[in-house]
Amino acid sequence: MLKEVKEAVSGSREIARAMGVTLKYLFKKPITHQYPDEPVEVYPRFRGRHVLQRYENGLERCIGCALCAAACPTHCIYVEAAENTDDDRRSPGERYAKVYDINMLRCIFCGYCAEACPTEAIVLKHDFQLAEYTRWDAIYTKERLLEPHDTPHIKLRSDEKFELKETWGNK
Ligand code: SF4
Ligand code: SF4
Repeated sequence: MLKEVKEAVSGSREIARAMGVTLKYLFKKPITHQYPDEPVEVYPRFRGRHVLQRYENGLERCIGCALCAAACPTHCIYVEAAENTDDDRRSPGERYAKVYDINMLRCIFCGYCAEACPTEAIVLKHDFQLAEYTRWDAIYTKERLLEPHDTPHIKLRSDEKFELKETWGNK
């Protein structure tokens, strides 16, 4: 009998504790992101989808040197270069990337490709919408990677809002 009473008291206490947590959050402002109806805030340093940049005059920054592919630890970049001609000039240099593919399924978003690029052609922007229906769609071709790339679902968050919390890493 005593055991049952103890269990009933302990159960009631747990229910009260759980209800306390519910009540604590009941009157707080919800923090649910209304994605995709409203843009999501991301930090400026967030590394998302790759973009191949152009110069202001529209020429491609990529010169097909394949340094990004050499730096990539997962070998997910494939570059094939071709010569520019006066009739068909794609980049300011002698060569441009005829083929530029990234297998996004293998990418670990380390950013080494962007670090290695001498012309700042390949950069990791802030897009996080990377879901595809087939694995072949996850191979991003040059046509998909080249600017312009619109991201209306993203809003850049100010770094001022970032507060460094004490963690094992910065104690
Ligand atoms: S971010 Fe890293 S893994 Fe992804 S393509 Fe660039 S170098 Fe390769
Ligand atoms: S993206 Fe940069 S590193 Fe990669 S092939 Fe083009 S110019 Fe070279």
